[in-house]
Amino acid sequence: MMNTQSAYDLAMLAAIVNSSDDAIISKTLDGHITTWNAAAERILGYTEAEAIGQHISMIIPKEHLPEEERIIAHIAAGKRVDPFETLRQTKDGRLIPLSITVSPIIDARGKIVGASKIARDITERKQAEEHQARLAAIINTSDDAIIGKTLQGIITSWNNGAERIFGYSESEALGKHISLLIPQERLNEEDHIIGNIAAGKRVDHFETVRLAKDGRLIDISLSVSPITDHAGKIIGASKIARDISEQKAAAEEIKQLYEQVKLLNDRKDEFIAVASHEMRTPLTTMQATLQLLRRIAGDKEIRFIDSSLKQVQKLSSLINDLLDVTKIEAGKLPLNREIFDLKKLVAEAIELAGQSNPDYTFSLNGDIIELPFYGDPHRLEQVLTNLLSNAVKYSPDDNRIEVTLSQTDETVMLTIHDHGMGIPPDKLPLIFTRFYRAHGQLSKIAGLGIGLYICAEIISRHGGRIWAESEPGLGSTFFCTLPKREANTLQQPAA
Ligand code: ADP
Repeated sequence: MMNTQSAYDLAMLAAIVNSSDDAIISKTLDGHITTWNAAAERILGYTEAEAIGQHISMIIPKEHLPEEERIIAHIAAGKRVDPFETLRQTKDGRLIPLSITVSPIIDARGKIVGASKIARDITERKQAEEHQARLAAIINTSDDAIIGKTLQGIITSWNNGAERIFGYSESEALGKHISLLIPQERLNEEDHIIGNIAAGKRVDHFETVRLAKDGRLIDISLSVSPITDHAGKIIGASKIARDISEQKAAAEEIKQLYEQVKLLNDRKDEFIAVASHEMRTPLTTMQATLQLLRRIAGDKEIRFIDSSLKQVQKLSSLINDLLDVTKIEAGKLPLNREIFDLKKLVAEAIELAGQSNPDYTFSLNGDIIELPFYGDPHRLEQVLTNLLSNAVKYSPDDNRIEVTLSQTDETVMLTIHDHGMGIPPDKLPLIFTRFYRAHGQLSKIAGLGIGLYICAEIISRHGGRIWAESEPGLGSTFFCTLPKREANTLQQPAA
């Protein structure tokens, strides 16, 4: 008969077993389950009633069955089986990772009658381990150096990237002070970084220089973030260092190339300025001489002299354009503003274009009779002459050129429309840039690609806008808008 004390002890034991988080199972030496606690039911899914009397192989996946034989042999020899990690199968067929300890059960006479198994569900631990392993793999495959350190600067982790960049192996770096990597003259940077980190702030993309094991200085970009414990306390810093030596070298090379190009470009501008200047003087003399000659020449010679004068004029206008470009580049294109009739200016420019291009017909549309405007008449005439001569030049097969002048309260708008070869859409945005020719230098049409550049500058200096629309094969329209505002304010008597 059981006395009260042992009944109490037994009940106590049962309560402990049942409140355990671990599955506690006992079985006979031939593997039949004799006890099954609440955690065993929770972890493996079988109720106590379902489990008791069943063979333990019910929860052992087939490939793990040999394990059981080994365990039983151990137990039969009276030995404990130390915790080992394995897989067991739940009632619904899931495999779960368990850490199992097995001990022999010995009866009052000292005979081994069975085994008790304590199985701990290690699913969460396994998941955490896997997660950590994945993170570690990511960290280790990173090209960047990823380094962990305490707030005192002691290195606590060191990835492959760190080894590659700085040359120290993990075992060489761990436990060392981070100043190992900091050049003497930059040691104060670390105080600044740690100050930020201790205040919970990140340091982002800080470009600096660090020291490798072999003494090389490496350009790096550094990002440092605080590491916090579960309670949110800052316990260290994680550093990501990217080797930017190549980037820096490339940037330096680009800078040098840029400087070289700029120098060459400046020299080219200077050359154009000097050359145009030098050409202008003899040309002016030639023009004067030809004009003088014309006065004393007979009818027969005059034809030749006029043709030469025309060529000299063409040359001098090209040279003037080149000089204008150099003036624009230097920001020194002068504007001499006055009040004049813009309608008259447009009409005269068209008439002149008509005289120089007798095969073309120019029409001027719009009902403006007079258009007082404040601006530089010579420069605006230059714009008109340029746009009209382009309209002629780029319309070899169609001789209609239509000019429209219109106005609103605030602006004047001028359009010049031709039916010529047009401009491909991808080239349209470039035609106002210096030396750009949409139809190539090889086209038979002569030009330097600076006319529109000068036009754009003159219009913009008047506060206006110039642009073009075009349909290749059908023609182009050039638009200029000019604000009238300035004329109105400046027409008032000077204050
Ligand atoms: P240039 O006529 O000396 O080449 P511009 O600066 O006046 O230089 O014009 C730049 C380019 O724009 C020209 O080379 C030509 O390709 C294009 N272009 C200008 N006007 C027209 C037009 N009316 N029709 C077609 N293409 C034009």
